[in-house]
Amino acid sequence: MTQQSLNSNKAIVVFSGGQDSTTCLFWAKQHYNDVELVTFEYGQRHDTEIKVAKQIAETQNVKHHILDMSLLSQLTPNALTQHDMDIEVGEDGVPNTFVPARNLLFLSFAGALAYQTNAKHIITGVCETDFSGYPDCRDSFIKSMNVTLSLSMDKDFVIQTPLMWLDKKETWALSDELGVLDYIRYNTLTCYNGVIGEGCGECPACELRARGLDAYLKEKGAE
Ligand SMILES: [Zn+2]
Repeated sequence: MTQQSLNSNKAIVVFSGGQDSTTCLFWAKQHYNDVELVTFEYGQRHDTEIKVAKQIAETQNVKHHILDMSLLSQLTPNALTQHDMDIEVGEDGVPNTFVPARNLLFLSFAGALAYQTNAKHIITGVCETDFSGYPDCRDSFIKSMNVTLSLSMDKDFVIQTPLMWLDKKETWALSDELGVLDYIRYNTLTCYNGVIGEGCGECPACELRARGLDAYLKEKGAE
């Protein structure tokens, strides 16, 4: 039996509608002819997240798969899914926004989708630089996952992580290079309080995002 080989010009982007995964979408569009998005619905703090993801997929004219992962919020009470919990950092340095096994599950399902759609590349916006205490954002985990996915389906998948070694300032720089800085600045949702674009300005996600943008714009202005 000859196996059909994967389409090396096709990519699946793990997509949340936030700054990082939207930057990955545009990065993917620059590198591959055929790009599709996958968004996981798992009882996010704000259903705005799904709406934003849908909107971006529509305006960018990209095929969008939305998969139900609501079992995730069944497994762990967590500040990202339990709407009445405050966001805090635990004694072990891991914030209570951490959803155990989230990237493990997301990448498994993205891999299954890649298999079905014959896409060689799986793109995720995880980043070790700002890794914020999430162990499943580290490069070593991604490399191990890549091996596991490929072995599990006997396919040569490639997990691409364009943001792995970038800090937030450099992620903004990348979006500028891709010509979409303003699009990402005003149309994506990173804020834990569900405020699109510049966000609430107060939550940890907004602080990180704004600090990076300020640093990038300052550097650009100084050129
Ligand atoms: Zn915010």
